[in-house]
Amino acid sequence: MDNENKDKDIDITEPSETSEGSLSDDKDASKTEDAGKSGNNEYEDVCFVCRRPESKTGKMFRLPGGICVCPDCMQKTMDTVSQFDYQGMLTGQSVPTDEELRRMVEEADKANDSESGQNKKMGNPFPNFGFINLANLQGMGGIPNKQKLKKKSGASKPLINIKNLPAPHKIKESLDKYVVGQEHAKKVMSVAVYNHYKRVATDSMDSIEIEKSNVLLIGPTGCGKTYMVRTLAKLLDVPLAIADATSLTEAGYIGDDIESVISKLLAAADNDVEKAENGIVFIDEIDKIAKKENSNHRDVSGESVQQGMLKLLEGSEVEVPVGASSKGAMVPLATVNTRNILFICGGAFPGLEDIIKQRLSKSNSIGFGGTLKDSYENDPDILSKVTTEDIRKYGMIPEFIGRLPIITTLQMLTKEMLIKIMTEPKNAILKQYQKLLELDEVKLEFDDDALEEIANKAMELKTGARGLRSIIEDYMLDIMYEIPKDDNIGTVTITGDYLKGKGAPIIGLRG
Ligand code: ADP
Repeated sequence: MDNENKDKDIDITEPSETSEGSLSDDKDASKTEDAGKSGNNEYEDVCFVCRRPESKTGKMFRLPGGICVCPDCMQKTMDTVSQFDYQGMLTGQSVPTDEELRRMVEEADKANDSESGQNKKMGNPFPNFGFINLANLQGMGGIPNKQKLKKKSGASKPLINIKNLPAPHKIKESLDKYVVGQEHAKKVMSVAVYNHYKRVATDSMDSIEIEKSNVLLIGPTGCGKTYMVRTLAKLLDVPLAIADATSLTEAGYIGDDIESVISKLLAAADNDVEKAENGIVFIDEIDKIAKKENSNHRDVSGESVQQGMLKLLEGSEVEVPVGASSKGAMVPLATVNTRNILFICGGAFPGLEDIIKQRLSKSNSIGFGGTLKDSYENDPDILSKVTTEDIRKYGMIPEFIGRLPIITTLQMLTKEMLIKIMTEPKNAILKQYQKLLELDEVKLEFDDDALEEIANKAMELKTGARGLRSIIEDYMLDIMYEIPKDDNIGTVTITGDYLKGKGAPIIGLRG
């Protein structure tokens, strides 16, 4: 506080708020600087408070009246101001929140501009002291809320050109290179994505509005729901945000509010609003926000989250914080229209099979119901017979289901599919290991027994293809450790016996 008296004498006024204003202030500042340097070269600017020269302190803040203040003293001043007990000063108001403080800054600016004595009205403890934004004085931009975001340009060309949009069969062909099996889901998704972006591209030309094709993906865990969406987004070169429905809560409660998914999408689009508006949002674990029956508590994470998502799914303008997950006084905001964002929801919906079976057996209870019921019990593909009615029974509200017009199911991965996943896709995990050892000029092979054994182990884990990597990594650790030791090794074959703990891998020498 020892500098306080000196500080009070300083007439610190904030440069005008507009960017041009801060620019011109900068120019003024540089003019003074130039004048100081060229006109009177022997003297260096010194800090008005601590008297240290600019060469010691770093770039000074140049204030009207030729006063220079070094960054350290300026910071100290601001810290002192921010620690001040406002409770006593501001006519009995409680300590202001960030938002109130910002409003005060703006009001204090106005007061500084005019002689109307606004400060008095506010009970400002520093009559000659305007709150300043350090960044403004140093020419680094203004109040963060005025930060420049890439604006939507009025007559911009569509990001996805309909002429370049690959036909659904082409999209599926590309998906086939990565996603094993799930033929029906791949087909449905290819058509959905194609239609969606066709709708986006023709939006301005066509008077008939085609309904938005948001998708609901139902399938057991680890069967490729997220992977398929990720691959699609990559193929189409659109930004993708992946969110977990379990972490979403109604605005105002602890957790991420629903609009945070759009904020994530904006981040994935490098803060380019236009790009984000053509992106894809994948909300996983959507079954976890099913309505809870007989709940006496306020349902903040189930039905109300579904309610809250309705507007997003349908298309609305949302104000989202940029570069942060929640809104705050100092976080810049951007307006994103969700009309053209493709929403894909995914979930395992455990227990849904029973609801389907119940419905099917009920509708066939007359006549040969008994025999049919048995066939449903053993149908591994029962999930594909799902209807919106079943999903409603599960606990999703009708309005929510209505906004996800495309429903498709993915199958539980079989042993054969797991083996294919390990070996066939472009970035298959075994190919990755082979590539790694190739760098050491070692050829890595897996015999059929080994592949089957890994698939068996993964089936036991019941986490779909997710378990494959950890199983393979476990067994590959020793090999990756031992092989580079010996330059003579040319081939390594992993056998089923090695995985069963009955033997060692077969090593072949070079040459
Ligand atoms: P979920 O269905 O639970 O969203 P993921 O899509 O996250 O499962 O799958 C986990 C991992 O398993 C993926 O990263 C991918 O490598 C692999 N995977 C799962 N299903 C397939 C599939 N059908 N084809 C290829 N890889 C798959």
